[in-house]
Amino acid sequence: MRILTHSVMADHQVPEGFPEHAGRYHALRAMIQTDFPKISLENAAPVSDDILRLAHTQDHIDSMKTDSYIMIDGDTALSPASYDAACHAVGAAIAACDCVLSGQSNTAFALTRPPGHHASSEKAEGFCLFNTVFIAARNIVKNYPDTKVLIMDFDVHHGNGTEALLETYLDEGGENIAYASVHQEGIYPGTGYKQNRFIYNCPLLSGSGSADFRDSITYDIIPFAEKFAPDIILYSAGFDGHRDDPLAGLNYSHEDYAWIVDALSSISRKQVSILEGGYNLEALAISAHHHLKALANLS
Ligand SMILES: [Zn+2]
Repeated sequence: MRILTHSVMADHQVPEGFPEHAGRYHALRAMIQTDFPKISLENAAPVSDDILRLAHTQDHIDSMKTDSYIMIDGDTALSPASYDAACHAVGAAIAACDCVLSGQSNTAFALTRPPGHHASSEKAEGFCLFNTVFIAARNIVKNYPDTKVLIMDFDVHHGNGTEALLETYLDEGGENIAYASVHQEGIYPGTGYKQNRFIYNCPLLSGSGSADFRDSITYDIIPFAEKFAPDIILYSAGFDGHRDDPLAGLNYSHEDYAWIVDALSSISRKQVSILEGGYNLEALAISAHHHLKALANLS
């Protein structure tokens, strides 16, 4: 397993009291250095605007470049280092995919912030500026045209931005990216019910736990994924479905984040995980520990 990141991602500043803050990045970095001492944290290069345009308009990209402190909405803030942090986040995800597709490793983790799955073509929202996972998927199908990519989103929130970007890609005739999500229904962003050949949503009721999560993956997502037959899986890896997370009401265990890696290894052993949410620092670190251990075992 390879781990891609860059310390500049901690420089994306948000107002005091925001759940998505640099402490999340530091907590995961510390956990990896302690628990996985043999795996180095590799520095990723930032991407340029031409890569960001795989998902976003130039107007949106330019609006993320600022010398000031700006609130985009109640959840989403910009600071002078935000654009650079987000460009490194996308760069880490792309480098992680390249490690796997070039055969250097079966699995990789991109330790990233800000998160990405709520960002759509022209809109930053829900802590997200650029849609890191979707840009990584589009970059794969651009560079490896015969490769099919499944985005598996297990963040407690639905990836509305990813789904919207995928729908545009499908409308343009694309067939090599699919999206599956298990999330809590009735919370932000309020989407996450569609199902078709390329999109499979599994909304869970508040209070759902490990058994519901695992049943959704086993009986809904895996048959969908078998039909699509991806060559690589990209996780939108949010750890905010954990029972101790303050933002939502699902009751996943730490072990669920390892279980999904093993469960989906029957679909593809090439797996790249990209950090999304997770807001209880202790639960985030322990959940990510289990997830990374399973990814390392696949390598
Ligand atoms: Zn989330």
